[in-house]
Amino acid sequence: MMENLLETAKKLDAEDRLGHFRDRFYIPARSGGGEQAYFCGHSLGLQSRSVESTIREELVAWRDRAVYGHFTGELPWMDCNDALCQQLAGLTGAQPSELVVMNTLSVNLNLLMVSFFRPQGDRRKILIEKHAFPSDRYAVASQLQFHGLDPAECMVELGPEPGAQLIEESQVEDYLRSHGDEVALVLWPGVQYITGQAFDLPRLAAAAHAAGSMIGFDLAHYIGNIPLSLDESGCDFAAWCHYKYLNSGPGAVGGCFVNQRHHQANGLPRFTGWWGNDRSSLFRMEHDFKPARGAAGWQMSNPPILAMAPIRASLALFEEAGMARLRQKSLALSDYLVTGIQSQLDDILEILTPGDSARRGCQLSLRVRAGRESGRELFSYLEQRGIITDWREPDVIRVAPVPLYNRFEDCCTFLQHISEWRALTGS
Ligand SMILES: *Cc1c(COP(=O)(O)O)cnc(C)c1O
Repeated sequence: MMENLLETAKKLDAEDRLGHFRDRFYIPARSGGGEQAYFCGHSLGLQSRSVESTIREELVAWRDRAVYGHFTGELPWMDCNDALCQQLAGLTGAQPSELVVMNTLSVNLNLLMVSFFRPQGDRRKILIEKHAFPSDRYAVASQLQFHGLDPAECMVELGPEPGAQLIEESQVEDYLRSHGDEVALVLWPGVQYITGQAFDLPRLAAAAHAAGSMIGFDLAHYIGNIPLSLDESGCDFAAWCHYKYLNSGPGAVGGCFVNQRHHQANGLPRFTGWWGNDRSSLFRMEHDFKPARGAAGWQMSNPPILAMAPIRASLALFEEAGMARLRQKSLALSDYLVTGIQSQLDDILEILTPGDSARRGCQLSLRVRAGRESGRELFSYLEQRGIITDWREPDVIRVAPVPLYNRFEDCCTFLQHISEWRALTGS
């Protein structure tokens, strides 16, 4: 049976019109020689071959033009954010004016909540999911405390029904219908980082707004993974990082969306710095802050040019490949894995991620049926053979076949090694 899987993988790779994009990346080597089967793009995307030269261009600009680099050259540093937002508009389905590239994700969540969490009267709760990424949970707790509120009372954590793995959108709707008048903000992930479940963003935004609450999305595991239409989603704000599916390097500068309905001058309160000034007054060094219209008005400092460069390289690759085509291949890759697991490995592996492809990106979250110890053992077994997944406590192996650089054959290798492990351990 595994032979059939290999034949299928080879055939699918040969037909794959995006296959050549793999050559645009550095694939890390296995210790025993050959290339890794790298399935950790949900955590840190691989380095593309174009990254180095985009950074070098900025080093040269700094070396040769020094302070004039702000205003001269092909891409003056002054315009760096605007240029990136033009590129990001297509990928995010937003207007460039609704986007800004700045800081990092946890910082941005905090800054955006300063603006979008405005507790008033009995409406002072923040609704999050029970298994939120720790940083998001800390940010929410600190925002509540900043307003003198007690997280134990005002942070509402909604989890799956007893015995279930996933949270249904209908649970969020039910909660907001019955308790929505106490909720000032919903902060929700686009894709849940442990299970890989993708949420229906427009549906959640509609439910929050019907209850009179603001809603923001954390899109760390969504962007570059699933086609995004931020304007259609209707959310008030969103934030994400660029180092997961967007391959822009460890700690890459983050991105934010502020819906244009919040762009009116002197609208929302915010924390400010000189770089958020309206462009016409930026260098007049005026006494009073006059925010730039749009998301750019949330910037504080002048941007880290060397750190922004890889994002430019990465977005160019996404433009070239096309998000719709990437999604098509992404689903084909994960469907191949799901089929392989269900037909060959169902006795030892459980898939936590929704089977319905509309409810997931490329990540599959797996649990070894024999329990946590066996799960850890399998994870290490794969790692030692150059098959790179990750382990999430207590018992989840995450595997993400990324359409820009993973092949169907990588997926086959993954399945084969698990099958060998089963034969070896008698699991
Ligand atoms: C990756 C991730 C983060 C990381 O935050 P940083 O500030 O970039 O370190 C936060 N939240 C979620 C949901 C994530 O997936």
